[in-house]
Amino acid sequence: MKTIYFDNNATTRVADEVFEVMQPYFCELYGNPSSMHTFGGQVGVRVREAREQVAALLGCHPGEVIFTSCGTEADSTAILGALAAVPHRRKVITTRVEHPAVLTVCRDLENRGYHVIELGVDKQGRLDLDELESLLDDDTAIVTIMAANNETGTIFPLEKIAEMVTERGITFHTDAVQIVGKIPLNLSESPIHLLSLSGHKLHAPKGVGVLYVRKGTRIAPFLLGGHQEGGRRAGTENVPGIVGLGKACELAARYMDDENTRVKALRDKLESAILAGCPDSRINGDPENRLPNTTNISFEYIEGEAILLMLDRFGICASSGSACTSGSLEPSHVLRAMGVPFTAAHGSIRYSLSRYNTEDEVDFTIEKMPQIIERLRELSPFVGQVHV
Ligand SMILES: *Cc1c(COP(=O)(O)O)cnc(C)c1O
Repeated sequence: MKTIYFDNNATTRVADEVFEVMQPYFCELYGNPSSMHTFGGQVGVRVREAREQVAALLGCHPGEVIFTSCGTEADSTAILGALAAVPHRRKVITTRVEHPAVLTVCRDLENRGYHVIELGVDKQGRLDLDELESLLDDDTAIVTIMAANNETGTIFPLEKIAEMVTERGITFHTDAVQIVGKIPLNLSESPIHLLSLSGHKLHAPKGVGVLYVRKGTRIAPFLLGGHQEGGRRAGTENVPGIVGLGKACELAARYMDDENTRVKALRDKLESAILAGCPDSRINGDPENRLPNTTNISFEYIEGEAILLMLDRFGICASSGSACTSGSLEPSHVLRAMGVPFTAAHGSIRYSLSRYNTEDEVDFTIEKMPQIIERLRELSPFVGQVHV
């Protein structure tokens, strides 16, 4: 059975071109980029080139790019590193809909005596910028707000937020993992201080990420050790991953138009056909400002997990808005923050597409969805009682 992969916000397929450029760096060009000899030095040259490729996609200077092991490390480094640079400031502002890579760090900070404020969102997942502005003060050490939500695709007004925060002399970090490669960025014209991205969300391998640190931003290193990354992130570089990420960034720039035209059209087709074919379904998120590849749809009265299992039988990969914690199904914190009713939050499915998806895959899924929903609603009207 062929796999139909609609779970690209969870991870992506490594692009063939990316895999190809990585291969020599395992068994042939395996030198340490920090070594003095020519053998290592040539590897160092490739790491430098990859840094330039990342910088080109972000519209920044290569010296502002720090390679990390993942998006999570970039987020932790940004938040903890910025706090360490201004130890007298004790307030942290974030949102209730952040990825756990940010939210868990902030909640841990709260346990360690920081004053953490989590901004709420409205029914469409939008922030109240007046509320944010009213909370900024001289005690605020950092504001960390994601660029786009991984579950709903809702895009926040990044530049407006960055301006508002940085004008007050406060450090601004954004988890941009979901927009890099999907929406154009130009950091040279932006006041954003810190920005995180992750390789495996844009067709590079797992285990490599980037923290962008705007020139002049004060930040303490998170990993201590050797002098790699200009002393800002110790640890021998993941050379194949870095070379792959460089290539993935180059490709992302090339496919950006495709993402916002063809992929977006596929998403729109999938979404409107599902809404039309399945009664009691609705979109979660801001339909105006949304990632081109993402749709999150709630189906009343059924469990997302049951839908996923049925989709899985057809080889279709998607994800649900619930997480199985301690044996009970908790609806997603993002949908709960948006006030999505309990019955709808439980039955939510996220489809996230990529440039590798085809119209045939979308058509096949459009054909199957109404059958799946009808069958599940017949099987049992009781949430949690559905077995497939
Ligand atoms: C995937 C993701 C992360 C984590 O990145 P990893 O490289 O998997 O650690 C952080 N934030 C968002 C919004 C994500 O989607």
